[in-house]
Amino acid sequence: MNKTLLEVKDLTKYYPIRGGLFQRNKQYVKAVDGVTFSIREGETFGLVGESGCGKSTTGRSILRLIEPTSGKVYFDGREITKLNHQELRNIRKDMQIIFQDPYASLNPRMTIGKMMEEPMIVHGISDKSLRRQKVREMLEVVGLNAEHGDRYPHEFSGGQRQRVGIARALMHQPKLIVADEPVSALDVSVQSQVLNLLQDLQETFRLTYLFISHDLSVVRYICDRIGVMYLGRMVELGERDALYDRPLHPYTQALLSAAPIPDPEALRERIVLQGDVPNPANPPVGCAFHPRCPYAVETCRTTRPAFREAESGRFVACHLYETGGEPVA
Ligand code: ADP
Ligand code: MG
Repeated sequence: MNKTLLEVKDLTKYYPIRGGLFQRNKQYVKAVDGVTFSIREGETFGLVGESGCGKSTTGRSILRLIEPTSGKVYFDGREITKLNHQELRNIRKDMQIIFQDPYASLNPRMTIGKMMEEPMIVHGISDKSLRRQKVREMLEVVGLNAEHGDRYPHEFSGGQRQRVGIARALMHQPKLIVADEPVSALDVSVQSQVLNLLQDLQETFRLTYLFISHDLSVVRYICDRIGVMYLGRMVELGERDALYDRPLHPYTQALLSAAPIPDPEALRERIVLQGDVPNPANPPVGCAFHPRCPYAVETCRTTRPAFREAESGRFVACHLYETGGEPVA
C-alpha cells in the first residue's frame, strides 16, 4: 500500500459572526468542525456533501490559503500548520489548487503564456526561452496547443480555461492537487473530457488528488475513497464501491437515493430529505443530522456520535452503528 501523503487531524475553521456593539458572547459559524482523514500517495480522495457543508473551507485550510482555527495537517511528513511564511511558500509548489471557475483566477489582460510564466519568474527561473519552452510543453500536456499561450482568457471556452487552470497547477510538478469543483461549471460533455484528463495526468505525474464536488456521479467516476460531509463534519468515509453499494449513514443513504441512477433497472427506494440544512451558526445539539433523519432516536438528540470505524476501512458517525445493528426502518 502506498504511503500516506496527506493527513488531516481534527481540523476546524470557525468564522466569527459580527455581533452588535453590546453583544458579549461571540458567535461562530463552524464551517469545519473536527474533520479527520488521510490520503495515500497516488490516490483520489473525494469530499462530497451539499453546498455549504464545509468542503471548500476544508480544502483551503489544508493548503493554508485560509488559516485553520485548530487541528493539524501533515503533508509528506511535515506539519503544514506549523510552517512559517517562507517555509509555506516553498512547500506550496508541491500543493496546488484548481478552482471551479478558472476565469475568475485568470487575469483578463494577460496572455495565458505570460500568466503561466509568472510563477517561474517568482521562483527564480530567469531564462526566458526556458520559461517559454516550459509553457509550451505544459499547454500540450493538458491538450491545448503551444500557440494558445499567445491568447487571452476570453478567447477560450470553459473547458479550455479549466485546462489552463490545470496547466498552471502543474507548472511546478506538485504532489498534491486540491481540485475544488473543477468541472461543476462545465457542460456535461466537457466534464468527462476534463475528468479523463485529470486521470491521465495522475498516472503520468504520479499525482494525488483531493477532489471536492457536490456532484455524486462525478465523485463516483473519479474517486478511490470518499468522505461525506454534513454541516462541517465528516459523517461517513469509505472505499468508493463499498460506499455507493451500501451507504451506512442515513445522510449518505438519502444523498445517494436522490442522485440520478445511471442504470434505470436498478431502482432504488428514494429517501426524501426532510427539512432544510440547519444554520451552521447554530447547529442542532447531538447529531447535527437528527432533525432530518428518519431513524433518529433519543440519543441522537442529545449526544454527538463519534466518528468510528464501523467495519474495515469504513468510518461512520452515527449512533445506529454503535451497537453494530442495521438501521431499522
Ligand atoms: P462548501 O464548499 O461545502 O459549499 P464552504 O466551505 O464554502 O462550503 O462553506 C461552509 C460554511 O462556512 C458555509 O455556511 C459558509 O456560509 C461559511 N463560510 C464560508 N466562508 C466564510 C467566510 N469567509 N466568512 C463567514 N462564513 C463563511
Ligand atoms: Mg465549495
